Amino acid sequence: MNKVWLVTGANSGFGRAISEAAVGAGDVVIAAARRVATLDDLVAAHPDQVEALTLDVTDPAAIDAAVQDVLARHGRIDVLVNNAGRTHIGAFEETTDAELRSLFDVHVFGPAALVRAVLPSMRERRSGAVVQMSSMGGQMSFAGFAAYSGTKFALEGMSEALRDEVAPLGIKVLVVEPGAFRTSLMANAVTSAEIDDYDDYAATVGVTRAMAASGDGTQPGDPAKAAALILAALDADDTP
Ligand code: NDP
Repeated sequence: MNKVWLVTGANSGFGRAISEAAVGAGDVVIAAARRVATLDDLVAAHPDQVEALTLDVTDPAAIDAAVQDVLARHGRIDVLVNNAGRTHIGAFEETTDAELRSLFDVHVFGPAALVRAVLPSMRERRSGAVVQMSSMGGQMSFAGFAAYSGTKFALEGMSEALRDEVAPLGIKVLVVEPGAFRTSLMANAVTSAEIDDYDDYAATVGVTRAMAASGDGTQPGDPAKAAALILAALDADDTP
């Protein structure tokens, strides 16, 4: 039976690549994004397989309503991909509470709300998978990435517990930790406005800021290849 996927941030980068791979496998994709019009081409190309869904993952009420609507119409969500994200680059001392909270909303509280919303139906069916798009920055951190890595470390800690809790219920949790991939993530990075005034930080934080300014990482990878690996890992008997 073909799967039903719910992918957040499906309009760009990894989310788009994962959605296209799932469609290629014959599955149905609920492609969620804030700028939903950017999914028009994918929907038009695969009208029977792709539904665009307007969803801001920082809105818990919208998450609950969206998941209930998908379950009512499709009967199940086989794979939840918590992919939506953005980054921030700046010295720790310039990273405001507002920015920290905002990043935690997108990378931690949003995914947590989505997991809570889909788990009851997966538990009932004793089947399903959750893909958590973390980052290499969820395992190690470096200058300028305190806020981003803080959120991804938190996501990984929660996901390890979740994986152990739901494995006996037949539900997989896959934590993905990409390195640098050329998507719109770095180009859209929020950078601290005063960073150039901090000479002491220039050699360290400055490097990551230059990376953002150039719009790409140092070792750009191909999201489509990553998406193929994710699909293979979900189909494997033992998910890492
Ligand atoms: P992109 O910028 O290409 O895609 C990010 C997507 O997230 C966009 O589609 C954006 O769409 C969406 N998004 C951002 N905020 C929200 C929100 N509040 N609600 C819903 N959607 C939102 O970046 P990537 O594809 O690179 O990033 C995807 C994931 O991969 C992220 O979690 C990122 O941390 C992770 N990652 C990326 C790496 C890289 O090198 N590119 C490396 C490691 C991890 P919109 O603005 O329309 O909402």
